[in-house]
Amino acid sequence: MTALRLAIIGFGKIARDQHAPAIAATDGVTLAAVADPHASLPDLPHFTRLEALLRDGPPIDAVAICTPPQVRRAQAALAIEAGKHVMLEKPPGASVGELDPLIAAAVRAGRTLFATWHSRFAPAVDPARQWLASRRINAVHINWKEDVRVWHPGQGWIWEPGGLGVFDPGINALSILTRILPQPLFVTAAELSFPANREAPIAARLWLTDAHDLPITAEFDFRQTGPQSWDIVIDTDRGPLTLSGGGKRLVAGDEVLVEAADAEYRGLYRRFIELAATGTSDVDLTPLRLVADAFLLGRRNIVDSFED
Ligand code: NAP
Repeated sequence: MTALRLAIIGFGKIARDQHAPAIAATDGVTLAAVADPHASLPDLPHFTRLEALLRDGPPIDAVAICTPPQVRRAQAALAIEAGKHVMLEKPPGASVGELDPLIAAAVRAGRTLFATWHSRFAPAVDPARQWLASRRINAVHINWKEDVRVWHPGQGWIWEPGGLGVFDPGINALSILTRILPQPLFVTAAELSFPANREAPIAARLWLTDAHDLPITAEFDFRQTGPQSWDIVIDTDRGPLTLSGGGKRLVAGDEVLVEAADAEYRGLYRRFIELAATGTSDVDLTPLRLVADAFLLGRRNIVDSFED
């Protein structure tokens, strides 16, 4: 099998920290070019825009779109129209509805559209799902709190409409939750805290449930300094199950079931290669729908202004 020739569109923090190293470490995919207004890599063709890359760049089979969500839909549409397989960073878009025409275009073109949820590829996620499959679940609590200045330094787009604010990391927790729980979930209430000078929330509390009235609560906060929290605690008939470190560690009671290093992005690329071999798409909008519902139902509090 020849390697998938891939271009990264939007060479910011996640492309640099995760995509480029994961591509280098994965058989079956090679990095052929980059499109970004400013950033580039030595010895790799660089274009400031996707349009120029498609017109003048080296031959490619696929793109990984790592730009802010507000500009992704148009780029994905262009790439599919040009016959490329498309990997979308999370969240898959700035709205739920904008994905429908992309899904249809990918089917028409016989190309892959892969809406990634990197946290689902964390090592403890599938073991958690399997462990829970034979237990009765009584309650769930998510504690997802991180320092926006560390993880999103100077990223103005995250505070704009469509940038999601604290739901940018919070959606990772929801992507895990919707993978490990056996029943579909829905939001019943939310409280969103907006800084007085921003268009997106800096913190949020969510109440969710399922058809059996399972109580689920979530706390998301971008103002956490010191140790960071990416934890999901599930109370079951066989004691608590704790998924921590964003999905790297799984503990049942006192027993450590999984403790493993992060290899999420290599998992994503292996899956993309597999999908592209047959032109199959994988687009699950459930986590994005939960976030959209939190915005629909959320009470809005105005809190202190936030400056980077
Ligand atoms: P970022 O550092 O702001 O990177 C985005 C890059 O896209 C920037 O280099 C930006 O260039 C470029 N860009 C903007 N408009 C473009 C366009 N029209 N064409 C080509 N490039 C364009 O953001 P990030 O942290 O990498 O996040 C990007 C996505 O990855 C987000 O959806 C985020 O949720 C996801 N993600 C981020 C993390 C994380 O820890 N940061 C983790 C997982 C997933 P300029 O800066 O010059 O505008």
